[in-house]
Amino acid sequence: MNFSYSFFTLNMNSPFITHKATHLKVPHVLINIFLNKIIGYGQTVILPYYFYNLDEMNNIFKSLEKLKIFFSKIQKEKIKDLNEVLNRIRIIKSINLNIYSAVEMALLDLFSKMNQKYLHEFLSIEKREELITSMTLGIKSIDLLKIDLDKYKNWPVLKIKMSNNLKDNYYKVKFIFENYKGKIRIDANGSWSISEAKDMFKFLENYNIEFIEQPLAADSFRNLAELKQSTKIPIILDEDCKSIKDIKKISNYADGINIQAYKSGGILNLIEMFKEAKRFNLKTMIGCQAESSLGISALSHIASLADFIDLDGHLDFIDDKYYGVSIENGKITLPENYGIGVKINERQL
Ligand SMILES: [Mg+2]
Repeated sequence: MNFSYSFFTLNMNSPFITHKATHLKVPHVLINIFLNKIIGYGQTVILPYYFYNLDEMNNIFKSLEKLKIFFSKIQKEKIKDLNEVLNRIRIIKSINLNIYSAVEMALLDLFSKMNQKYLHEFLSIEKREELITSMTLGIKSIDLLKIDLDKYKNWPVLKIKMSNNLKDNYYKVKFIFENYKGKIRIDANGSWSISEAKDMFKFLENYNIEFIEQPLAADSFRNLAELKQSTKIPIILDEDCKSIKDIKKISNYADGINIQAYKSGGILNLIEMFKEAKRFNLKTMIGCQAESSLGISALSHIASLADFIDLDGHLDFIDDKYYGVSIENGKITLPENYGIGVKINERQL
């Protein structure tokens, strides 16, 4: 088994703005693992609001170098079992969680290709007849919103990012409901205080909102309990749900969780989180970061496990390095090749 890694940055056609950050360029780490002429691809993204200090960046480089040494050591061994490799990687000290998730993705891609299976088949996930993703609209001016509502008028569901500018939120919600016929989800990214959240919920009760994601800052459970009691609109937690350990507690305060590979440490952990959420009767949404078609395609293979799908993170890039899932008016079509199924976009090399 041979291992290599590289860094690349993908550029968006326009800035994606949320309460937490503005993205225009997204740095990625790509991992390739080779065995018997088959290549497994894995990736993760490096977002500035997670890795804001040099220590974290240093740990990313160190983790990659440790993995390089590990793979060169096992090069001559005949490893046939995915779990054996993963178990041995898990005991390497201080491997960055996102780097681990990228390596796991590459190994899953490799082993499912070796077994001539699509990733969802390899993971024994029954594929749902139809996979529909929302399109997420960042915080933007009404003029840009107008353009987007026209562009996405045939999508069945939109997710709208909101800020703590309530007047602006009210205006936009009215405008959206006047100009768009599909379902609406709201993501506040923890930007509201409890009193702002109460005002927003009261206003949004007048509209048919599918759910509201992370209305309060993470770890505001006392206020969340109060908010939950005062509304019928389902509440989904994202920033509060960092790992499988958070799910039990969340089930006392909210209706569902947003699960992402980026924060949960890989696709296998993600699948465990879906099972745990089901055990506690929580709805689930599979979410993503702004990431290449490789990441989105990998997540699409397990999207059948989720109640709600939010896998649009690759659509704004102008220089994606891969071809993978295709999405038309929200409908996800998985790639036709084994494994995750992506091909390298030669024009972007
Ligand atoms: Mg969110």
